[in-house]
Amino acid sequence: MFKNQSDTDMTTGKHLVLVGGGLLVNKYLQCTAHPEIFGGGRCIYFKDRPLDKVGVYAVRQNPVLYQNLMASLEETVLQPFDPVGELTMNRHDVVFFKPYPFKVGEKLHIQGGPRNGDWEVIDVTDGKIKLRCPVSLREFEWNRFCYFVEARSGTVWPQE
Ligand SMILES: Cc1cc2nc3c(=O)[nH]c(=O)nc-3n(C[C@H](O)[C@H](O)[C@H](O)COP(=O)(O)OP(=O)(O)OC[C@H]3O[C@@H](n4cnc5c(N)ncnc54)[C@H](O)[C@@H]3O)c2cc1C
Repeated sequence: MFKNQSDTDMTTGKHLVLVGGGLLVNKYLQCTAHPEIFGGGRCIYFKDRPLDKVGVYAVRQNPVLYQNLMASLEETVLQPFDPVGELTMNRHDVVFFKPYPFKVGEKLHIQGGPRNGDWEVIDVTDGKIKLRCPVSLREFEWNRFCYFVEARSGTVWPQE
């Protein structure tokens, strides 16, 4: 637990920035001193404005907290928490695409589309990938095309 502080008192205790006894977090519910730490509910101090220690904020922070923990691990975009609810108007089911990190020598099977079939990765650059057909041994170079795909509900879209 954090040691008690007055609302105006700010200190760095045990390397965490505490305000009013709460962990100082930015609009992404992310600790300002340690970006790998996220928090919500009664134990935080929301940097943009002080929030009452009521359950409604804890409940509404929960999905943002979950999304941002996942986004942090996956190095994708963080979502802001909006205490007054304006951003809830902009929340949608959104499909996220993250470039697939092709490796030379990797064996692929592509289902559907113009590249349908088996391939081996023989060269990768920033923008291009070269594939060889293991049967005909023909080689083709394409723009990098493959992505991890994930659907997320309640995502702010479009991003600011
Ligand atoms: C009497 C009372 C009435 C309230 N009425 C309302 C109301 O009507 N409406 C409203 O919106 N809000 C109300 N609130 C506020 C609301 O309860 C809190 O804002 C909300 O519960 C905060 O949620 P939380 O998850 O941040 O913290 P908590 O609900 O306090 O949950 C923290 C959890 O962490 C656990 N924990 C603590 N330390 C550790 C540890 N070291 N290791 C493991 N677990 C630990 C605790 O046991 C607890 O389960 C009320 C609060 C009180 C006290």
